[in-house]
Amino acid sequence: MKDRKLLMIPGPIEFMPEVMRAMGMPTTSHVAPNFLEVFDQALKRLREVFLCPDGQPFIIAGSGTLAMDMSAVNLIEPGDRALVVSTGYFGSRFAAILEGYGADVVQVDAPSIGDAPALEAVEEVLKEADYKLMTITHVDTSTAVRADVKGLAALGRAHGALVLVDGVCSVAGEELRQAEWGVDLTLTASQKAIGVPPGLALVMAGPRAMEAARRRKSPVINYYADWARWLPIMESAEARDPRYFGTPPVNHIWALNVSLGQILDEGMDARFARHRWLSEAFKAAVEALGMAQVPASADRAANTMTAPYFPPGVDQGLLTEIKRAGVIVAGGLHPDIKAEYFRVGHMGVVTSSDILATVGAVEYGLARVGYRFEPGVGLAAAQTVLLRGPA
Ligand code: PMP
Repeated sequence: MKDRKLLMIPGPIEFMPEVMRAMGMPTTSHVAPNFLEVFDQALKRLREVFLCPDGQPFIIAGSGTLAMDMSAVNLIEPGDRALVVSTGYFGSRFAAILEGYGADVVQVDAPSIGDAPALEAVEEVLKEADYKLMTITHVDTSTAVRADVKGLAALGRAHGALVLVDGVCSVAGEELRQAEWGVDLTLTASQKAIGVPPGLALVMAGPRAMEAARRRKSPVINYYADWARWLPIMESAEARDPRYFGTPPVNHIWALNVSLGQILDEGMDARFARHRWLSEAFKAAVEALGMAQVPASADRAANTMTAPYFPPGVDQGLLTEIKRAGVIVAGGLHPDIKAEYFRVGHMGVVTSSDILATVGAVEYGLARVGYRFEPGVGLAAAQTVLLRGPA
């Protein structure tokens, strides 16, 4: 019998064999022509995946938190005002990072966990003062709430703020059109819908963000994260002219290039549609099994993940039983409701069979912990959506 479990957490996700092969290739010199060719191609492909043809990509060794940190330290000067639109744990993290660099931060929270601040509430705050920047967490992985990036970005722009999007749990899964929607900077990490093992911080800075960094008066108070040190590296990679600042993660960048190629072969619109479809199927199963979800309404819910509340009488022991059936899902993360819900990631290369296998494992787990339901009801609900195909 196969001993492998299906990894269905909201990152890291499962990775394609071609990506893993690139990770395992003999490492070449970071200034070798064949590496520079791949680095160059990966930078260009990132612009296509972020839908930001005029953006400046940064590929740096680190996790998503470094991408947040780097964005903050290059754009904030002490005393600058920053507005954080928060829909959970990662909004608060952005606020803490910005505060660390001396920003005067106003955090707008949702009226309740699972909700998002109304556009009107955000606009009220934007009217009160001049904000240098605002941050939006596209999908907050602690609540599975998806923010209205398009609406919020338009508001931020209208009030003169740079718009930063934490797309760690969204880029290459959720629809996000950076240039068209007026987003000035999007950041992500490799291990979610981008489809590469953890280890890369990815930032796409639009022209206004780059200009703001160039015009700052005070020095960037972080040696490693200073764009002034990394920009020549990214530019020289695209010019295929080797330069050194810090040794780039050669194998990760090969793997990234492979994964970005696969993403673009699928096509961004098809990819967004597949994520919506598989998410709808999984959520239909959750509902049919009588479980509520953390997001307050369907239009607030992410397509890259689902956060079901445990049904009455069920607790975290359910996760052990789901694992026994071969699928790994994640526990709660939001500190206020941590023990009351669990999280399932369905992003990246996830397929309809992964969805059915996961629903099957959830049904197995629910049966094992004594929850009463009609076996197969979740599977039937998911299959009904899957048979319809992506819209
Ligand atoms: N933002 C969001 C929305 C996330 O989901 C995560 C990671 N789960 C992060 C930021 C931080 O990324 P990392 O764990 O790679 O540092």
